[in-house]
Amino acid sequence: MTVVTRFAPSPTGYLHVGGARTALYSWLYAKSQGGKFVLRIEDTDIERSTQEAIDAILEGMQWLGLDWDDGPYYQTKRFDRYKELVQVLLEQGKAYKCFMSSEELDAIREGQMARGEKPRYPGTWRDRTDHPEGQPYAVRFKNPQEGKVVINDHIRGKIEIANSELDDLVILRSDGTPTYNFCVVIDDWDMGITHVVRGEDHINNTPRQINILEALGAPIPEYAHVSMILGDDGKKLSKRHGAVSVMQYRDEGYLPKALLNYLVRMGWSHGDQEIFSIDEMIEYFSLDNIGQSASAFNTDKLIWLNQHYIKTLPASEVAEHAKWHFDQQDIDLTNGPALEDVIKVQADRVKTLKELAEVSRYFYEEYEEFDADAAKKHLRPVAEQPLLAVKAKLAAITDWNPETIHQAINAAAEELEVGMGKVGMPLRVAATGSGNSPSLDITLNLLKPEQIEQRIDKALKYIANRQAS
Ligand code: GLU
Repeated sequence: MTVVTRFAPSPTGYLHVGGARTALYSWLYAKSQGGKFVLRIEDTDIERSTQEAIDAILEGMQWLGLDWDDGPYYQTKRFDRYKELVQVLLEQGKAYKCFMSSEELDAIREGQMARGEKPRYPGTWRDRTDHPEGQPYAVRFKNPQEGKVVINDHIRGKIEIANSELDDLVILRSDGTPTYNFCVVIDDWDMGITHVVRGEDHINNTPRQINILEALGAPIPEYAHVSMILGDDGKKLSKRHGAVSVMQYRDEGYLPKALLNYLVRMGWSHGDQEIFSIDEMIEYFSLDNIGQSASAFNTDKLIWLNQHYIKTLPASEVAEHAKWHFDQQDIDLTNGPALEDVIKVQADRVKTLKELAEVSRYFYEEYEEFDADAAKKHLRPVAEQPLLAVKAKLAAITDWNPETIHQAINAAAEELEVGMGKVGMPLRVAATGSGNSPSLDITLNLLKPEQIEQRIDKALKYIANRQAS
């Protein structure tokens, strides 16, 4: 049997990290079994579904690299198919027309609630044949009244629901539109889904869906209901806690591999291993190792993983994702060193790609002003001689490389009989505009000698102005 899983988001907003984790689990399971992963857009709620949200979901999936083998399918394009099967169930006596008006239904519900009962449709039209002519009707599924539904959930174990708990679900509304649970059932069947991995918020739908699948003579998939993601305060993760949309993580400078690694470990484990390449995730993943309890989002851990991947992935791969951030910050990458080279020298120093762009601007453009604190501390009159000396030594270099740069700085310090720091710090502030940079030899090596010269002059001017004022 080929394993077929699916991710079936409703396009009513962004791609939430909780949804992304569900998608990842589904994707991993398909990959680990040599199966197929289907993407299905559940857009039957026409009021709340938007094209923008569809685009956001596709963009999020693509950014994460969760590629689908089949789809995207759109439920709104499959209405004929759903209606066809409503008809089949009606003909087979497994569904029936219900002529109850919504006022009548509301009155029944109110009565039930007043008596402290669970609101449910009482089966009024289940066996009636006195159908009024020309009256609107909904179609309800004839849920079995006896017995129980047993689900062997991969995460939650055995779940049993008595059929007496379930009422007859509307599958086609009186306006002719099929209902959500029915569409899901038909889709899972038509798309050959063997394993349904989804959020635990759908667990109440499962017994109803299984009953409909059985009535249709369709195979019953296996189920894995994934727990929720909580914020650090133990409440369901929401905007209040910060970023919840996958693309917000991109915007904040996370690598997709870091987010995937973070998400896979949130609720799933393989011994005490924390870092997983995609291939390892695929190799080790199993639905049965997903934990039952809700997991809390821990941004520090995500940052730790992000740093790990910035440091260890090939610079070319980091560069592909980093480019976007330079672009966002209007930094023209054609104006300086190869981004990969900058990544190699900055990787140890940054937590995110956004920060990488922020602290690398001086490689690509002139800084406007010196960092105030750094300038105050290091561009003082005593720095004038060291700057002049190092400028001369740097200007004399014929072969510009980290080694010759290092020697030039050393030579300047020796000439003035001062420590390296007395030359290095003013030079750093001059070259980068700030007091923070990777080691000077590699930083300067990525800049052009003329640039350094100009920047040293700028620092000297700053010192002169400071003395004058
Ligand atoms: N469309 C549902 C959601 O976004 C998922 C339904 C399912 O996976 O069966 O929550």
